[in-house]
Amino acid sequence: MGINKEKYREIVTELAGKATLVAVSKTKPAEDIQALYDLGHRDFGENYVQELTQKHEQLPKDIRWHFIGHLQSNKVKYIAPFVHLIHGVDSYNLLKEINKQALKNNRVIDCLLQVYIAKEETKFGLDENELDDLLQASPINQLTNIQITGLMGMASFSDNMDIVRSEFKYLKSLFDRYAQPQTYPEHSRRTNHKFQTLSMGMSADYKTALEEGSNMVRIGSLLFGERN
Ligand SMILES: *Cc1c(COP(=O)(O)O)cnc(C)c1O
Repeated sequence: MGINKEKYREIVTELAGKATLVAVSKTKPAEDIQALYDLGHRDFGENYVQELTQKHEQLPKDIRWHFIGHLQSNKVKYIAPFVHLIHGVDSYNLLKEINKQALKNNRVIDCLLQVYIAKEETKFGLDENELDDLLQASPINQLTNIQITGLMGMASFSDNMDIVRSEFKYLKSLFDRYAQPQTYPEHSRRTNHKFQTLSMGMSADYKTALEEGSNMVRIGSLLFGERN
């Protein structure tokens, strides 16, 4: 067991200047995270609130914790004091709750909106129309303690890289649309939108994601080994 240091170094070199590596440590022990931390790594991703808060308590305080799972509104309060970036936001109500808890903690919390790009039924996220509605919705401007910094998506679990690639391409096109102030003058006036992060790509498909313009990849099993 333990971490794959060689693979870590290989991926870091591959990503240099292109993308941020979020090391996905869900279900893995604190020692494995510490081992990667000792190599200089600081960005870690977790899917479960309780596991994340426990690891946050145990581990060095300069770790940047990414929440990448499906976040329930009633659990936002547990991670709001320290979370670095929430990847999977897919409703206005959740944004509202994150804003409320951020305010209580006197912080601004960065969020990515999750877009549904895969074929599978089980994946969370917004479709294009819902994304549009959410970003154009006027009350979003009143959420002064959140910042929408980009989009996140998960491609289909498929060996067919053509499918995966086309899904990433699609997400990139949505990202570009909202990152361009001239396309949406209305949206560029919003102070809490700052599109800069496109979180796409996991162990099986990160190379394709990079080719399609990802600048943040979430990699677990290649670094920490397969999960049970
Ligand atoms: C678990 C998970 C990952 C990492 O998956 P690997 O295949 O182990 O790299 C990335 N993103 C999300 C949202 C996840 O839940």
